[in-house]
Amino acid sequence: MKDYNPYDNVISTIKKAADLLCLKENDYITTLYPERELKVSFPVKMDDGSVRIFEGFRVQHSSSRGPCKGGIRYHQDADIDEVKALAAWMTFKCAVVGLPFGGAKGAIKVDPAKLSRGELERLTRRYTAMILPIIGPEKDIPAPDVNTNADVMGWIMDSFSMLKGYAVPGVVTGKPLDIGGSLGRAEATGRGVTITTNEVLKKMGMRLDQATVAVQGMGNVGSTSAKLLRQAGAKVVAVSDVSGGLYQPEGLDLDSVFKYLSNRGNLLKDYQADGVSHISNEELLTCDVDVMVPAALENQITENIAAQIRAKMIVEGANGPTTVAADEILEKRGVIVVPDILANAGGVVVSYFEWVQNIQSLLWDEQEVNRTLNRIMIAAIDEVYDLHLEKQVTLRTAAYAVALRKLVRAKNIRGIFP
Ligand code: NAD
Repeated sequence: MKDYNPYDNVISTIKKAADLLCLKENDYITTLYPERELKVSFPVKMDDGSVRIFEGFRVQHSSSRGPCKGGIRYHQDADIDEVKALAAWMTFKCAVVGLPFGGAKGAIKVDPAKLSRGELERLTRRYTAMILPIIGPEKDIPAPDVNTNADVMGWIMDSFSMLKGYAVPGVVTGKPLDIGGSLGRAEATGRGVTITTNEVLKKMGMRLDQATVAVQGMGNVGSTSAKLLRQAGAKVVAVSDVSGGLYQPEGLDLDSVFKYLSNRGNLLKDYQADGVSHISNEELLTCDVDVMVPAALENQITENIAAQIRAKMIVEGANGPTTVAADEILEKRGVIVVPDILANAGGVVVSYFEWVQNIQSLLWDEQEVNRTLNRIMIAAIDEVYDLHLEKQVTLRTAAYAVALRKLVRAKNIRGIFP
């Protein structure tokens, strides 16, 4: 049972942005409701011969600006409210960076660490068949999220293609390169986090190469963010995963941490090195750094934690890591929060490039991917930052307002069918 309903958080943020834009409820009411919610239950043959039933979801929040786009997560606590929130965040994320996509999200309620690779593959293939009627390159395009990766996307692409009778690389993004993945996609979210951190620090008169950083979560987003922030000159002093965190005031030896984590099943609680102390996730979130990057799950920064945060800036690598109540405390305390829909948009931007390459049968080189990502991210950061200064609102409200403006325009142009 979760203490916070993430979908309520989304609604309250949308309403704040609508107030800022002086919109009437009729203008934006469609953004408060997901367009389509699919719940599926399906059997999977387990290695011991037994059959288990799993529950999954796919929610399409909005297709106003284009096909729906959003990841698939495997997590034991996944539920429909979480998936609805994640789908809505995708709608606003795609709009804020100006991609021609709407938002969606999917999930299976499962702890994948408890499945064998064969069970994971059968689970993925059957889930793909169950959501097949509503996905496709022109309808809804999944991607990786928590506990899913390029291998899982490869199985989805293959299952979808087998059921259609021809290869459909554009049905998912974040695929392996050999079947139509894009160069730069694996690192894109962390790269976007790094670009955002650098740009916002500059606007605040600070420098990334003089900043100390803590990162919560050592998965795709957290580990790439830590790596690229360090490459840009920042000192990464704390990192964590689900088992706890590491702290070293002189800066962690990240290469050694990544090498240790590359063994499947290794957790940071068992990592040992000279000068490194073990801390809890709560201690990590409240440690004395310039920049905090929560890159694990939602609702990590609660009221309690917000009151103790010592970072000057929080860059939300994860989706929804800060509760609404915590956000208000951080605002009062003058902590700058760079919202998820902007900070972690790098992933969906490069997913868009992957989809464009797939449907046009084109190949971009990595430089072109990273250069275009940089341009799109900086333009979006500037637009959001300018509105934040002009209206004297938080970066979150400004980002939602920039996105909502575009969504309302699209809805007004298209009208209401029939
Ligand atoms: P991942 O599965 O690769 O990694 C998740 C990490 O979080 C792991 O290190 C795990 O140990 C850690 N973790 C899990 N529960 C935790 C807890 N309670 N406390 C501390 N750490 C915990 O997932 P990911 O793809 O890196 O996604 C992380 C976040 O970023 C999610 O919110 C996701 O929605 C968001 N996101 C991901 C992408 C992407 O491209 N993968 C894009 C945008 C946003």
